Amino acid sequence: MEKVIIIRYAEIHLKGKNRGYFERVFGVNLERALKGIRHELHRTSGRYLVANFDEEKTEEICGRVSRVFGVHSYSVGLCVPYDLDSVYEAAKEVCPREGTFKVETHRADKKYPMTSMELNAHIGGRLLDDFPALRVDVHTPAHTVCLDIRENGTALVFGKFEKGAGGMPVGTSGKGLLLISGGIDSPVAGYMMAKRGMNVELLHFHSYPYTNDGAKEKVKELARLLSRYSVSAKLITLNVAHIQEQIHAKCAAELNVTLLRRFMFRLAEKTAKEMGAKCLITGESLGQVASQTIEGITSSNAVVTLPVLRPLIGFDKDEIVLVAKKIGTFETSVLPYEDCCTVFLPDFPAIKPKLSFVEEEEKKLDVEALMREALESREVFSL
Ligand code: ATP
Ligand code: MG
Repeated sequence: MEKVIIIRYAEIHLKGKNRGYFERVFGVNLERALKGIRHELHRTSGRYLVANFDEEKTEEICGRVSRVFGVHSYSVGLCVPYDLDSVYEAAKEVCPREGTFKVETHRADKKYPMTSMELNAHIGGRLLDDFPALRVDVHTPAHTVCLDIRENGTALVFGKFEKGAGGMPVGTSGKGLLLISGGIDSPVAGYMMAKRGMNVELLHFHSYPYTNDGAKEKVKELARLLSRYSVSAKLITLNVAHIQEQIHAKCAAELNVTLLRRFMFRLAEKTAKEMGAKCLITGESLGQVASQTIEGITSSNAVVTLPVLRPLIGFDKDEIVLVAKKIGTFETSVLPYEDCCTVFLPDFPAIKPKLSFVEEEEKKLDVEALMREALESREVFSL
């Protein structure tokens, strides 16, 4: 009788001809998530099994598996030969000694000599004989003993389904570059795109010496937290302080944020193309702040050709906060820090910047030279 963790996958089965590819990427992601823990990973039809691991690592493995996108559900269970006595011994292990229960069988092997109903009755009957304090309730049982009869002569026996992270295996939807600040929203945006199978790389802008190392450390910590969900464990940073100084010195104050954002997008696009990323990702949500109006979005989109994905565009702040808490980034995001956007913040930022006015003001700047200087400040941190 071997202890195993049974992993079922989610939308992969929808992918028809690509199924083999999706399964392979999923397997690689599982292996990566389990790195450093002794285990074996097996693929059986429609499932992955983690086997041959130390009993005391069960919780750790489950935690890691639960954060891998593509995992629909998982169960801690037992793998046994599928003869009746072995299945019964395993059922005894996972069944509590009292309360209501039922046995539920899934037969992948349709040639198995007993039907699902017969197996339910047989194993359920033996459990009742051995444990008189058990009672059958097929509608609302407190416990379910699940039997999964596999095609390779084994049966998986378990008691519970735990919900997985859902989504698609990271890497099956190409690569995107997340503009990550130290705020609440952008980490959530990165999580959401990783959940849809995107390989998410990270880019952060700072304004040293106006912003300090604390701000950078905070973003590194957010990146570390995100890497648990297969988001890149590498953070690229660029300094935009000189750009902010020039905008502040030369351009209309109400356009400070608008103009800075256009630089951020240009720099992000350049970085993205270098690393083969096919889109930019931001944490913008419509109307949340002055720069996140449709006019603000128009003005920053105008300087890039890559698509800009904004997974939070229709979310309210409290909905975003809920996800941030669920994925564990909220506590870090709310630590006080100074974002480069708040340095030189005008009293009245333009809410509906007119593109022609923005472009007119921008002519006062040497865009190419400012870009070059920012790109030269590039640092890369492995987390
Ligand atoms: P967040 O909570 O993600 O900071 P926000 O509500 O503070 O978002 P803004 O400051 O307007 O909104 O930023 C909008 C988006 O622009 C962010 O979600 C992020 O994707 C990007 N962004 C803002 N500041 C930075 C920065 N310093 N470095 C990289 N990206 C940034
Ligand atoms: Mg912010």
